[in-house]
Amino acid sequence: SDALERALGLIASIPDHPTPGVVFRDLTPLFADGAAFADVVDALIAPFAGRFDAVAGLEARGFLLAGAIAMRTGAGLVPIRKQGKLPRATEAQSYDLEYGSATIEAHRGDLPAGSRVLLVDDVLATGGTLGAAIRVADRLGWDVVGASVVLEIDALDGRAVVSGDGAARIVSLF
Ligand code: 5GP
Repeated sequence: SDALERALGLIASIPDHPTPGVVFRDLTPLFADGAAFADVVDALIAPFAGRFDAVAGLEARGFLLAGAIAMRTGAGLVPIRKQGKLPRATEAQSYDLEYGSATIEAHRGDLPAGSRVLLVDDVLATGGTLGAAIRVADRLGWDVVGASVVLEIDALDGRAVVSGDGAARIVSLF
């Protein structure tokens, strides 16, 4: 739509950030524009409308989207965080980075098993983060209805990595 094309136009591309050779996509100008933010939030919801009880936001920019989606839909919100931030018992999953590895986790007690959960993040790159989030969700007994992201870096083919990890439906706006 024209509204989403306008929102896409607000995303900045930062060459050589955070390391040489990487083009970082910066969504902060989109988030700063109230109309564009609302249009994007609505578009993230639409494919899954009425089919989730809670939205799980991936740290950190996924939190911003998840809060808005929760308020717009009446769904609950759970954070999937980088290791060491959550104070109670968690399920955790590590995944490989280009150099080293990272771990994300979610609280065991926040949602009942069987909850229908939509995963949300700003960018899907290699798919490592989303793949790990799906494993955490599976282990917590969540029914993952899918994942919504604003932007997918097509060249990295993260979608293929994540699909290998589970059947969750992934929707990317751009
Ligand atoms: P992946 O695990 O798919 O390689 O990376 C996705 C995670 O890293 C997401 O949580 C996302 O926020 C962050 N990320 C990776 N590349 C970018 C980027 O170019 N821009 C932004 N905003 N986030 C990125």
